[in-house]
Amino acid sequence: MTSLGNLRDLYQQVILERYKKPRYRGQAEPVHRYQKGHNPSCGDTIELTLNLNEVGDRIEEVRFEGEGCAIAMASADLMAEALTGRNVNEALEMVQRFQDMMKGGVEFPSEFRKLNVMQGVSKFPVRIKCATLTWHTLKAALESSSSAPPNGFVSNE
Ligand code: ZN
Repeated sequence: MTSLGNLRDLYQQVILERYKKPRYRGQAEPVHRYQKGHNPSCGDTIELTLNLNEVGDRIEEVRFEGEGCAIAMASADLMAEALTGRNVNEALEMVQRFQDMMKGGVEFPSEFRKLNVMQGVSKFPVRIKCATLTWHTLKAALESSSSAPPNGFVSNE
């Protein structure tokens, strides 16, 4: 566990705001992709639902449900916002970019600058999995080709 001082630095205002007042909690309507994710090291769980366009190459809506720490929940909310209206290839590139950023790599361009608030987490190795959980889960959701209802899916734990 990080100290309280570290946590204050880490939980920047945006992260806390998103945790307390998420904008993208809920379920996409209709659900075209569903994926559960779990981060055992912290206990975070996430359930992502996606609504895609007719061709299936564009994300119309991203929603999440789940329980976890402020970092995991805020990361999901920020991701949902950033990915709404993006095409699938672009979203997969962003997954890679987010993982790179967590390893100390480059930030997102100004269009996605809100995602850069998560960069502070990269200084706390034990919390990186909290921040990346939602992105791992998204990747699994996009790479599954099934549109079966949520019960038909397995956890990616
Ligand atoms: Zn966590």
